[in-house]
Amino acid sequence: MKWSSFERRHIGSSEQDVKEMIEAIGCNSLDELVDRTVPEQIRMQKPLDISKAMTEFEFTNHINELGQKNRQMKNFIGQGYYGTITPAVIQRNILENPGWYTAYTPYQAEIAQGRLEALLNFQTMVMDMTNMEIANASLLDEATAAAEAMIMFYNTRSRQAQKAGVKKFFIDKDVFEQTKEVLKTRATPLGIELETGSFEDVVLDNTYFGALLQYPTATGRVVDYSNFIEKAHTNDIKVCMAADIMSLALLKSPGSMNADCAVGSTQRFGIPMGYGGPHAAYFATHEKYKRHIPGRIIGVSKDKDGHPAFRMALQTREQHIRRDKATSNICTAQALLAVMAGFYAVYHGSEGIIDIAQTIHDKTQSVRNTLEKAGIEIVNNTHFDTLTVRADQSQMAKVKAEMEKAGFNLYYGQNTISISLDETKTWENAERMSEVLVSTLAGSDQQFDRADQVKVPNEFKRTTSFLNHDIFNMYHSETQIMRYMKKLENRDISLTHSMISLGSCTMKLNAASELFPISNQNFANVHPFAPVDQTQGYKEIIDELGKDLSEITGFDSVSFQPNSGAQGEYAGLMVIKAYHESNNDHQRHVCLIPSSAHGTNPASAVMAGMKVVVVKCDDNGNIDVDDLKEKAEKYSDELSALMVTYPSTHGVFEEKIKEIIDIIHAHGGQVYMDGANMNAQVGLTSPGLIGADVCHLNLHKTFAIPHGGGGPGMGPIGVAKHLTPFLPTHPLHKTGGENGISSISAAPYGSALILLISYGYIKMLGQKGLTKSSKMAILNANYIRAQLKDHYDVLYVGSNNTVAHEMIIDCRNYKRTANIEVEDMAKRLIDYGFHSPTVSFPVAGTMMIEPTESEDKDELDRFITAMRQIREEIRLIEEGEADKKENVLKNAPHTARMIATSEWDKPYSREKAAYPVPYLLDAKVWSYSRRIDNAYGDRNLVCSCLPIEEYQAV
Ligand SMILES: *Cc1c(COP(=O)(O)O)cnc(C)c1O
Repeated sequence: MKWSSFERRHIGSSEQDVKEMIEAIGCNSLDELVDRTVPEQIRMQKPLDISKAMTEFEFTNHINELGQKNRQMKNFIGQGYYGTITPAVIQRNILENPGWYTAYTPYQAEIAQGRLEALLNFQTMVMDMTNMEIANASLLDEATAAAEAMIMFYNTRSRQAQKAGVKKFFIDKDVFEQTKEVLKTRATPLGIELETGSFEDVVLDNTYFGALLQYPTATGRVVDYSNFIEKAHTNDIKVCMAADIMSLALLKSPGSMNADCAVGSTQRFGIPMGYGGPHAAYFATHEKYKRHIPGRIIGVSKDKDGHPAFRMALQTREQHIRRDKATSNICTAQALLAVMAGFYAVYHGSEGIIDIAQTIHDKTQSVRNTLEKAGIEIVNNTHFDTLTVRADQSQMAKVKAEMEKAGFNLYYGQNTISISLDETKTWENAERMSEVLVSTLAGSDQQFDRADQVKVPNEFKRTTSFLNHDIFNMYHSETQIMRYMKKLENRDISLTHSMISLGSCTMKLNAASELFPISNQNFANVHPFAPVDQTQGYKEIIDELGKDLSEITGFDSVSFQPNSGAQGEYAGLMVIKAYHESNNDHQRHVCLIPSSAHGTNPASAVMAGMKVVVVKCDDNGNIDVDDLKEKAEKYSDELSALMVTYPSTHGVFEEKIKEIIDIIHAHGGQVYMDGANMNAQVGLTSPGLIGADVCHLNLHKTFAIPHGGGGPGMGPIGVAKHLTPFLPTHPLHKTGGENGISSISAAPYGSALILLISYGYIKMLGQKGLTKSSKMAILNANYIRAQLKDHYDVLYVGSNNTVAHEMIIDCRNYKRTANIEVEDMAKRLIDYGFHSPTVSFPVAGTMMIEPTESEDKDELDRFITAMRQIREEIRLIEEGEADKKENVLKNAPHTARMIATSEWDKPYSREKAAYPVPYLLDAKVWSYSRRIDNAYGDRNLVCSCLPIEEYQAV
């Protein structure tokens, strides 16, 4: 291997390390271990057909060249995506900072206080701007957020309405096209009937349960919906407003019009368009819906010493606990982007945001004045940032040609052209664009009519202030905000500190060279609805990545719409449903799911309108084949699909997988493979080879997109040939199959920008490096197992006594022997400098450890040391040498503040508490909070920023 190869940077251990690890396991070679682990009958027989590995330098040049194939335009397209200025301080300290982007979802709240505070700022910002009572910490995009609102209204209909079979949902015709399309996808399987019309004409009787309005509308109109909403409420119809966050700085808020829910994108708060994403959508509503809100909600609680502390609230709504009864299937959302949008608000404050919004509005008014003076009629008589003019086909073609010559993209609708302005459009841009429009549409000249400090008419004007909290008024200089960002970053554990061995979540290296291209303006600044001839760079990447992922999964084709694994599950099941329906098998609606499945599986099946039937697992953690057979027979006529994770969530390659798949196929069902564990498969076997029909890939697990503290992610699906025709389409961009289902996401290729990361990962590793990575992931897991097996029971092993790329250790006994819960161990690991592995999934009271190939032997050894030492600490309790209540585990994590108190009343030393092993003397991470009280936070729900004194004084 060449010194410059990326493979040696990506894979942690040296050849010498590998030798030692193989010896410790008791194998002769890496290949022998792999042969023992991956069943022979499913092994890939020939190497992956993937191009040769590029070095990092070669890749950087290659991707820059591709970037130049995307034409840089001034986009006036709008429709939910706008130019925005990412403050450089945010770009450098958040977006490009692994301290922020490599963090995990904040399940271990004590070492996630930084990002939890940042997300709480986001929620507070959303609540303020919308004037709603509660907001979540982001959803995937505006269209899916609107769909979630529809479903929330549907599920919370009054008992009467349910009895009466009320199932109609109204969509105003002036809602964004992509939102309408996603609503269609989401409504159909649940039996919701969509009616599209004009909000001014529709008669909303009691056959409706809800309505969706765009604000300002897609054509740019500003409407006071108060009357509409009031009327809707008289029939118990709930109203959701999809509201542009920037416009709310000047315009009356959804809350002040009495809307029941407000959703939207926060993209234009500093998040690049990126050809469609990732961006954070917001979801805000009334407090009374708090138990029905989809996605994560950050709440305030207190730690063991009574200090305020944050954590994820009301988790009993979520799929990982409620499964098929969850409020949504959301797992990965858009945490990093929500953090960025929150900081945008912190940095600009209300004054800054009003200034930005006012300038956009002034420029828009100026364009309007100019056009009107030239005799061009504007369709919308009110506006914030968007103007629509009528045009016939020939006019439209002419305008388009002239505009593209000038470097401008507008939005070309049916018989209209729309123009949206934003923060990045200069006065010169506005003037030049007006000039071209006037000359092509009116055939004349018109002096640009500049307007300043244009007043919003009183009836639409915002009268409430926002972002009054100190947080939004303290950090307006760069020094201030830089220090604030660093302060929060320092409260969190990320991959910059140590291994995060999260079973099932695959936290591997997110290499700098993979991430570099996302800051490149040639990619970041592309509108998702830009004409295809301008986006050839993206096209080449998407096509090539699709080809590579098809090769890796053994499938025919790939769809890039799903923005997370869970959305991939939903998309895959909808494709399966469409396939059955094309065969006239409308009755196939049963989805078999093993009890060991991830919570998103049953939640997604319910969203796809399926009935979940749980299949048992046997004592070895494998699917109980007899039970599967029985259920497949029982539901033979109605069988739609089996969802199966491979290797299993129990960390083994089930030998019977082929038999399982044959049983399902024999009964006419399709097999959905949850690809979260692809990291053990790449180059060794594949879903297609095993015989599955669909699988999703978590690009944010296996393919190196960072977790971002809970998103972004990408969950593309691969499908076998017979399913290709049904892949999801998009209303504004040709993609998907010829009989494709309607859209899953707002953008044609989901969060296209971060596809560059996975593309880089594959191109820099090449066939050999990809396969080697899978092998090393298996080696590292087996090494940990070998080193821990005399200390802990490993729950499941394969028939040749090996584990796959992860393993479960059993901690259930310690409750009885020492009063120690697995949670105590997770918190104690923090004192040792580690983020805990996955806790209590898929088996309660256990830990699932997945080291990944990127961790080197030294790091694995530190983790092993910590785990062994913790076992000894438990033993001291078991043997009565340590107290059952006052011990290092129950009191973990220990904060610096606690260790530094003058009074030390614990029966163990400060040294034992904070420096139990020598490697900590070299580098110690302190937990900011002591153990956080979850129940208290849920009982006393607070989801917005605390008064500043409470942050500082206590
Ligand atoms: C992570 C995971 C999912 C969900 O993926 P998201 O991208 O978080 O939606 C589904 N199944 C398994 C087994 C997982 O580990």
